[in-house]
Amino acid sequence: MTDHPTPKSTWQRWKDSIAMKTIKWLPENQVSRGVRSPHFWIIAALMAVLTLVYYAGYTPLAQFGSFFTDAFPHDLHRTLFLIPIIYAALTFRVRGALGASFVFLCVVLPRTFYSPYTDPLVRPLLLVLFTAFLGVLTAMLIDRVEKEEKAHVELNIAHQKLSTYVQQLKESQDQLIQAEKLTSLGQMAASIAHEINNPLAGVLVYTRLLSKKLTEDTARKEESLDYLAKMESEVSRCSRIIRNLLDFARQTQPTLRLVDINQVIEQVLAMVGHQAQLQNVEVVKEFSPSLPKVMADFDQLQQIFTNLTLNAIQAMPDGGRLTIRSSAVDSEVRIDVQDTGCGISKENMGKLFTPFFTTKAKGKGVGLGLAVVHGIIERHKGRIKVQSEVGKGTTFSVYLGGHDDEKG
Ligand code: ADP
Repeated sequence: MTDHPTPKSTWQRWKDSIAMKTIKWLPENQVSRGVRSPHFWIIAALMAVLTLVYYAGYTPLAQFGSFFTDAFPHDLHRTLFLIPIIYAALTFRVRGALGASFVFLCVVLPRTFYSPYTDPLVRPLLLVLFTAFLGVLTAMLIDRVEKEEKAHVELNIAHQKLSTYVQQLKESQDQLIQAEKLTSLGQMAASIAHEINNPLAGVLVYTRLLSKKLTEDTARKEESLDYLAKMESEVSRCSRIIRNLLDFARQTQPTLRLVDINQVIEQVLAMVGHQAQLQNVEVVKEFSPSLPKVMADFDQLQQIFTNLTLNAIQAMPDGGRLTIRSSAVDSEVRIDVQDTGCGISKENMGKLFTPFFTTKAKGKGVGLGLAVVHGIIERHKGRIKVQSEVGKGTTFSVYLGGHDDEKG
């Protein structure tokens, strides 16, 4: 998984701002530290100084303190209590705000005894209420901001953990694929050896037979040609197996050029036609005459249709009909390889393109044909679909991107 730097959200920008830095400066967990916190004593000292200033004007201290009361404008000496209250709210939250407001109330109450006015309590009490409200509000706000910050940090940690898990999962998956490849290689070695050994043994038998007949001068032309045809068929079977294997192992990139699909299929049918005839399979060609050419690798397309048609022929051991249909659908070229063979069961449908999946008897199939077909189509950025009904037949549909300006 790649990490992309995400643009800073408003929240993040605010978080980095001076306001947030100030909040962060406040020591954490003050609430639980109480009197052991230096902030408690700073607030207490501030309260004491302000109380002194407050009473300087009304008590017998007035003679020393008239300087303060004269120096402060109306009510400012009381309003200054807001500083320790907000301070308490910031460090000790709601508890601190309420506690400091209570101290403030205790400070202003005795003043009534010395007041020369008739409404001595109304204004100071209103101020106490106001500062308490402001303190509690600040405390709640800070609480909220801190909670959000905490949630944000937790979310980041969770995200990092998740990324690590995803990475680990990917690594395990890679190891699993590697292990599966090794298992596949084992299976492959066994089946390939078997698969290639049979035709080679056949070729050996015919070669010996032919050489014996030639030595004894008893070889008839027709018989010899038949032996040679059989040898050719066996050798081309070996060649096909090796070619599939090489393609599966190498996963070569296609050499692209404009290809006429109808021509590819014609060449394939020329190669497999003999086998179709042997198995009593009728070949029906339904080619669209105005098929766009496709950008593809000619040899690899040949391999696709050789594998598909041979599979179709092998699915009809008692004869049947093989229909090859080409058509243009939207901007794509569609080629159907349809047979009237045994069909594919539902449980096997999902495994068809898995390397080394085969239902054929030993020596008849390696299980690489469709895996190779799938790989080639993928490299050509095309698609393949299968429709099948057991006992009725199967249709493989290949879709490749067409070039409209190049009609075949
Ligand atoms: P192989 O032909 O060596 O078995 P493939 O990958 O070409 O390997 O095919 C895998 C399996 O898919 C076959 O063993 C067969 O069961 C099934 N299959 C493929 N094509 C057809 C088809 N036209 N009709 C029925 N089954 C098919």
